[in-house]
Amino acid sequence: MTQIAKLFRIDADNHELMEAQLAAFSRQVPLLYFILSVNSLALASTHFGLAPAYLTVAFPAVLVSACAIRCLIWLRRRDRAVQRDAAARTLRSTVVLGGILGFAFLAWALSLFPYGDAPRHGHILFFVGITVVSCIFCLMHVRPAALILTGTVIAPFVIFLLASGETVKIAIGLNLFLVTVAMIYILIICSGQFAAMVNGQIETRRLSNENFRLANIDSLTDLPNRRQFFHRLTDLAAQAKISRHTFVVGVLDLDGFKAVNDLYGHGVGDRVLKETGQRLLALSDQRQFIARLGGDEFGIIVDAELDHDAVLAVGAKVCSAFDAPFAVAGILAKIGGSVGFALAPDAGTTAEQLYERADYALYHAKARHRGQPVIFSREHEVEIRKLSTIEHTLRRIDLDAELSVHYQPIVDVDATRLVGFEALARWHSPELGPVAPDVFISVAERTELIGTITQVLLRKALAAAASWPDNLCLSFNLSMRDLVSEVTILQIVSIIEGSSIDPRRIIIEVTETALMQDYEQVQASLRILRTMGLKVALDDFGAGQSSLSYVHQLSLDKIKIDRGFIRNIAEQENSRNIVKTVIDLCRNLKFDCVVEGVETAEQVEIIRRLGCATMQGYFFAKPMAQHDVAGFIASFDVPDREQAAVA
Ligand code: C2E
Ligand code: MG
Ligand code: MG
Repeated sequence: MTQIAKLFRIDADNHELMEAQLAAFSRQVPLLYFILSVNSLALASTHFGLAPAYLTVAFPAVLVSACAIRCLIWLRRRDRAVQRDAAARTLRSTVVLGGILGFAFLAWALSLFPYGDAPRHGHILFFVGITVVSCIFCLMHVRPAALILTGTVIAPFVIFLLASGETVKIAIGLNLFLVTVAMIYILIICSGQFAAMVNGQIETRRLSNENFRLANIDSLTDLPNRRQFFHRLTDLAAQAKISRHTFVVGVLDLDGFKAVNDLYGHGVGDRVLKETGQRLLALSDQRQFIARLGGDEFGIIVDAELDHDAVLAVGAKVCSAFDAPFAVAGILAKIGGSVGFALAPDAGTTAEQLYERADYALYHAKARHRGQPVIFSREHEVEIRKLSTIEHTLRRIDLDAELSVHYQPIVDVDATRLVGFEALARWHSPELGPVAPDVFISVAERTELIGTITQVLLRKALAAAASWPDNLCLSFNLSMRDLVSEVTILQIVSIIEGSSIDPRRIIIEVTETALMQDYEQVQASLRILRTMGLKVALDDFGAGQSSLSYVHQLSLDKIKIDRGFIRNIAEQENSRNIVKTVIDLCRNLKFDCVVEGVETAEQVEIIRRLGCATMQGYFFAKPMAQHDVAGFIASFDVPDREQAAVA
């Protein structure tokens, strides 16, 4: 019973199926009403003059008009989206109206019976049989309507025929009954297949929507991912080009995340990123779009016209997400966030330009305003141009001819002896003049040029060191990009092997930022170099972020204390305490310690009293050209300690 009731039910829960049924039926509607009207007019005409006018003119006119109105209603409704309730209502009214109209046509046709002769009786039987079969086929996609029509037309019609007692009519009735049974069977199968096809399409669409969602969502944080970020950025940039409306793009990078990730593992790192996403979402309003771009980088788009101060306020709010430490897996991790913004369209008109500029502002924030927002400005634009000129020049020039190396002595003030020299890159460009090494090295680091530059400098430094006494070491700076490139490391190994220098005389200086990149690869590179006999010094110690984890995990030989602590060492007790702590740390971990940036005799004395005798700085000598090194070695004399103290 329930199965039969189900056949007559509109599945109101399946909106897509109802929509598909309405769409399929609306395509058949004109045909249905056309057949019905033409057949009715034909029947009316064969009975015209024989039957009363209300049956051959008025009644058919009303029925045909009703058909025309229904047809028009359906044609108007055709391309309109239907609401869930409206779809169910329309289908139900189709079922009810189908039944009423069908019965009305049947009643009309049978009411003509008493007025016709045998051929006209045949016409009536033919009219009812053929018309109802055609209509049922047109209603095939709306099964309940087709079944109701069968019930309201064929059932009484068959009863009418069987009850006539005439053999021919009984035969026609039985015939029609059999055809109806077959038709219902086909109808149920076809409508089932139709529903299955529509449900299949719904499932395919659902899967494709899910795929689309997954392709656009970051699975860790559930935030939109890089792809969606750039998609939105590209759309907004294109709109802004036409309407000149403004919007803001931000790039946020976590400070100190790498250390947490390396120290406590990726599980903890992942939870920090997840919580970061939640914190950022909690702070944002609907105008802000927040995405995870990858690693510990997040993107922000604010689709609103904000002035400079308003952008800084958004940035401050974003950075405040890191005010509270992250309590994850029993660990309390203090992580910061720096953010760079670019304002469209002033800072750029394409997604790439805007992202690059926001990223450039972020680079500034990280370098100079850690934990704060920075907006891309005209000065940054000038800098970008300058850096791009440097990059293009570096690409063109003969690196071997234009780059040179200067050497700054490293001194042991206790033993009054020279320990060695640090090789420092110099570029005096005929076009640009002297370019500071930290500037052109960082430009080279952002391109693939750094590997070649390192090799050129290393060859020169090794050639120079070959002429020094054997007891002097050569300190050589390696960039982070060198350390994460297996190819460059192998080339460095082959250059060192090809030189006449004992690898044990070479010290590789690496900075903390280098170590924070691809930790595993950096460790592997350092292992290769140490196996050869080279030593490793951690450069600029303390200038970056908390580094004790690296000191602990990496096999280092030496730590160079950043000159930032030395500048005010005479005046600031705090600086003295930090330097003392690092010197003690080195002693405990059995590392050598070098203090950089020593400029005055007073500083020499303080540092010596704090326990470190190996120093480097302008007080002893500024970096010098190779041709001055021999003279310096020959006349080397550590300034007298007492003399230094007086000075
Ligand atoms: P660094 O490796 O920490 O080098 C020490 C820097 O401090 C040098 O700057 C040196 O001239 C400067 N310095 C030394 N003593 C004093 C002092 O008493 N007072 C002051 N104010 N400064 C002092 P420079 O030569 O400008 O190099 C800057 C940075 O550029 C280097 O810092 C290093 O990170 C990078 N660099 C230089 N040469 C190379 C190189 O060949 N390869 C790589 N990858 N980086 C290099
Ligand atoms: Mg160095
Ligand atoms: Mg240094």
